[in-house]
Amino acid sequence: MDFEISEKIKSVIEMMDEFLDKELIPMEPEFLKRSFVEMLPELEEKQDMVRQMELWAPPHPKEYGGMGLDLMEFGLVSESLGRCPLGHYVFGCQPPDAGNIEILYLHGTDAQKERYLRPLVEGKIRSCFSMTEVDMPGSNPVMLETTAVMDGNDYVINGQKWYTSSADGAEFAIVMAVTNPEAAPYLRASMLIVPSDTPGFNRVRNIPVMGHEGSGWASHSEILYQSCRVPKENLLGPEGHGFVIAQERLGPGRIHHCMRWLGICKRAFGLMCSRAQNRVISPGRMLASKQIIQTWIAECAADIQAARLMVLHAAWKMQNLGVKEAREEISLIKFFAANVLQRVVDRALQVHGGMGMTDDTILAFFYRHERAARIYDGVDEVHKLSVARRILREYDQGKREN
Ligand SMILES: Cc1cc2nc3c(=O)[nH]c(=O)nc-3n(C[C@H](O)[C@H](O)[C@H](O)COP(=O)(O)OP(=O)(O)OC[C@H]3O[C@@H](n4cnc5c(N)ncnc54)[C@H](O)[C@@H]3O)c2cc1C
Repeated sequence: MDFEISEKIKSVIEMMDEFLDKELIPMEPEFLKRSFVEMLPELEEKQDMVRQMELWAPPHPKEYGGMGLDLMEFGLVSESLGRCPLGHYVFGCQPPDAGNIEILYLHGTDAQKERYLRPLVEGKIRSCFSMTEVDMPGSNPVMLETTAVMDGNDYVINGQKWYTSSADGAEFAIVMAVTNPEAAPYLRASMLIVPSDTPGFNRVRNIPVMGHEGSGWASHSEILYQSCRVPKENLLGPEGHGFVIAQERLGPGRIHHCMRWLGICKRAFGLMCSRAQNRVISPGRMLASKQIIQTWIAECAADIQAARLMVLHAAWKMQNLGVKEAREEISLIKFFAANVLQRVVDRALQVHGGMGMTDDTILAFFYRHERAARIYDGVDEVHKLSVARRILREYDQGKREN
């Protein structure tokens, strides 16, 4: 294992850290007061600055205008950008576009790449990924009910999705729908590109999440697909391979998310330490003098360090041995890092007392929006069950020792 950071990446991260501190973190108070869409003109100005610094689209292919960083490199970049909720968006590597770009790059036809991939990497359009359904369990996606039925040269899509993140203002959705109902469960669904102006693509609402509807990129929509017709050329990858492709996308995506969460942890931890050192709690004594706070600080530091090493190890393994070999590590980091994130943000908020509940710091925003880390990209319980089953099987087969 080698987690050595190259000089190139060190200097990229230094530039990004400086940009976040000078340009983006000062925008947070406004971001917390106004809607995301209202902030767009200012955000686009910042995006132009990032392009001029040649730091645009770090993980995306060079031939499409990205920096072409590898998984480990982008993991480290994602940690740096994660310190501010606007980081990934302003640097052109935000979810769900980052994942969709990966799918289009690996599985798109030449025509799909020109029409959707290029403007997506350039930041001219946005996209969304529409899989989870209102009435079916997202944690068991083979139960999908949305169908895409061939009619002449078209697929006709019907179904009700929700939690389609960033659909508000997206140019197109990548939709998971059942095309081969008679096939084995994991070969029933396909991915289809559906432009959002297609008749029958009905965005019903932005779902209020923890009391906030959000807008634009920073929102999650419910979408009704009602006889929504797209040409067969909009099939992405082979028919029936939706889950196979989704699985490929989720591996690197989990590294990106976990490293972003570690960026959030770093920020929350810094705020916690600084508040503890500056809050007078009794005459002449600071909050940091209390042992219980010191214990939290030490425990959070250990949690963050443990999660970081686990995520870097999983990224290293995935990069060097492939997604399949790193499956166990990917599940471990997904639930471990999500819970570290929750503990660290919760303790940082607690240290701030009443102030932690206000929007005078970024902590309440993190608390509201990052609780979802334990739900999306695989709920905690499913990851734990799958790791445990694998371990027990390997013991049974004598492949694992104490
Ligand atoms: C903020 C956010 C953004 C999202 N973005 C997207 C997106 O862009 N596109 C998209 O398609 N989806 C998205 N999702 C949806 C997400 O993928 C699903 O919510 C997730 O897969 C869980 O599915 P579910 O909500 O249907 O919960 P269910 O499947 O109903 O599960 C409910 C609960 O049951 C428990 N559980 C489930 N399975 C098991 C089991 N086997 N054993 C024990 N307990 C179990 C877990 O505690 C789980 O939380 C997003 C969700 C959130 C919260």
